[in-house]
Amino acid sequence: MEDYICLDDNHVFKARKSHSELAKPRQCPKCWSYHVIPISEYLKVKQKAIELINKTPFGIIPLWDIVQAVFLERGIRLSPIVTLKLCRKLYDDITNELNIPKAERGEL
Ligand SMILES: [Zn+2]
Repeated sequence: MEDYICLDDNHVFKARKSHSELAKPRQCPKCWSYHVIPISEYLKVKQKAIELINKTPFGIIPLWDIVQAVFLERGIRLSPIVTLKLCRKLYDDITNELNIPKAERGEL
């Protein structure tokens, strides 16, 4: 079973049931949030974003486009709130990872 990440508290957990076995949307076992995505998808979208940042000047990263493209390509549908939270998390994680000082950060 796949590992999932909760976009509300960053909790990583193992899925115990497959999608078809679930009676309702998957939830974080810690905070019961429904805003969870497979961690493999999260890493994929982050890698793609970093690749694009290396090719384009920072500040104009089309994070929305990247998230949309990766998830559409994988056939995964995200709710608007999950997309928002995912963009927020990607933005924070990427700026931390690339050591971009806070003062130089643009707004999402
Ligand atoms: Zn959670």
